[in-house]
Amino acid sequence: MKPKIVCEVFYQTITKEGKLRMPRFHTIKPNKSPSDCTINQISQSKLGPYLSKRNFNKTTEPIGNKKTEKNPIFVIQEHHSRRLHYDLRLEKDGVLKSWAIPKGIPMEKNKKRLAVETEDHPIEYSKFEGTIPKGQYGAGTVKIWDRGIFETKSWEKDVIEFFPKGQKITGKYILIRLKKGEGKNWLIFKGRD
Ligand code: MN
Repeated sequence: MKPKIVCEVFYQTITKEGKLRMPRFHTIKPNKSPSDCTINQISQSKLGPYLSKRNFNKTTEPIGNKKTEKNPIFVIQEHHSRRLHYDLRLEKDGVLKSWAIPKGIPMEKNKKRLAVETEDHPIEYSKFEGTIPKGQYGAGTVKIWDRGIFETKSWEKDVIEFFPKGQKITGKYILIRLKKGEGKNWLIFKGRD
């Protein structure tokens, strides 16, 4: 057999044997030749869970191709899905680390709110607004509640201190994982600047 056509596939992860798990056809790449394709283009994708939950023929959410912006960006999206919640996303290592905050980000100091860690999202998601169709993951409308850049003083496994510069939120925020080293539940609160 001789390779002739190049196509792009998505996958969830790479097995130890270097095979793609859950590969899915995405598109034909008529401008690429098989000789352009090398094994080191396949990398462990942080976006596997994000991609596998969505059908991009149906939702207008971005697929993502890891373009990184100069300053790390944050976004808070108001998401009217089954239950209204606010999604906080912080750019880190080419993706948006994400948390769903059922009651929204606290505006006053020392008010603690639950933040549930969700799958990494592509950087482009920070600009996404729209309606995710019925039957799709996260169906409902998404509006940007606040967006801007942020700084961090420390980003550890269980504690993140960040300083967003948004239209609505500024100052110091702290995220702390509830159970050290495990679990998706965090607390978020506004600290002393
Ligand atoms: Mn959401």
